Amino acid sequence: VYILAIESSCDDTAAAVLCNDKVLSNVVANQLVHTQYGGVVPELASRAHQQNIVPVIDAALKKANISKEQLSAIAFTQGPGLMGSLLVGSSFAKSMALALNIPLIAVNHMQAHILAHFIDEEGYDKPEFPFIALTISGGHTQIVRVDNYFDMTIIGETTDDAVGEAFDKTAKILGLPYPGGPLVDKNAQLGNPKAFKFTKPKVPGLDFSFSGLKTAILYFIQKNKAENPNFIDENINDICASIQYTIIEILMDKLKMAVKETGIKQIAIGGGVSANSGIRNTLKEAEAKYGWKTFVPKFEYTTDNAAMIGIVGYQKFLSQNFENASVVSKARIQF
Ligand code: ATP
Ligand code: FE
Repeated sequence: VYILAIESSCDDTAAAVLCNDKVLSNVVANQLVHTQYGGVVPELASRAHQQNIVPVIDAALKKANISKEQLSAIAFTQGPGLMGSLLVGSSFAKSMALALNIPLIAVNHMQAHILAHFIDEEGYDKPEFPFIALTISGGHTQIVRVDNYFDMTIIGETTDDAVGEAFDKTAKILGLPYPGGPLVDKNAQLGNPKAFKFTKPKVPGLDFSFSGLKTAILYFIQKNKAENPNFIDENINDICASIQYTIIEILMDKLKMAVKETGIKQIAIGGGVSANSGIRNTLKEAEAKYGWKTFVPKFEYTTDNAAMIGIVGYQKFLSQNFENASVVSKARIQF
């Protein structure tokens, strides 16, 4: 089975070709245009998708050495995401499936961040059902109980900002360019995580809140800058390390609680923020510390990519879960 997968939910245009559960090609075009605005500008994102989509799909097919006539189906991101961005991918997928007379498969982007773990990679152990997924991305923060490929229950989620936003917004306060998450990570590796202390929010159950942390950091910076205008420059590594440490503590507290409540000790992380080196290290440590088995996807399958859309496409292909051209994109969508 050859699946062409298209992802265009936010600001990356991505296409991948899979042969069953193996990735033959995985191409991503990043949109650098948003950096100067300090965040994704939806209208600019859709325009860039329009320009990128044909060359990105061409490149994915070429790299995979597959002609479009060999394709078994086309999978695309139905949502959640920015409507204008989603429409570029879905319209293209619909037309191409129609022209080639092959099945069309709609994929939930958040399910894809979780099912990315089932991409067949040499030396990569896949989780077994049931497992707990922690999806941490630019728009979401969810703890999900995964009982089967499409049997997922959200047991905890953020009540305000997502973890990725917490990283990006605090990075902005520090004067770092968008998206700041990777830069906070980079600086944090050189700093002392216990240099500064930030209070953790008190949120009941398995839910999260990150907006308070952002405000606390803003006040902390304002206060220190008033005393020393060079405060950020002189302490950037320690500040980043301390922010990252606090965020990881918040995530780990809830994961421990989720393990206790469900009795499930397999933890799989997904979403852009799971690229974070501190989170990766902390999870690996948790294996020895708490007897968990943890699953961290390959770097290129954490941030937005089409290979993860393709693996969901493959699973849906096996169960003949197809759509017709009347399927609509959804900015918000449940499992
Ligand atoms: P969603 O999947 O919820 O729709 P999205 O697709 O925009 O959101 P992703 O591409 O999955 O989000 O993740 C992007 C986020 O990941 C950004 O907030 C970015 O700052 C963050 N991020 C990427 N790498 C790192 C890192 N090393 N450390 C911390 N954050 C990171
Ligand atoms: Fe994403």
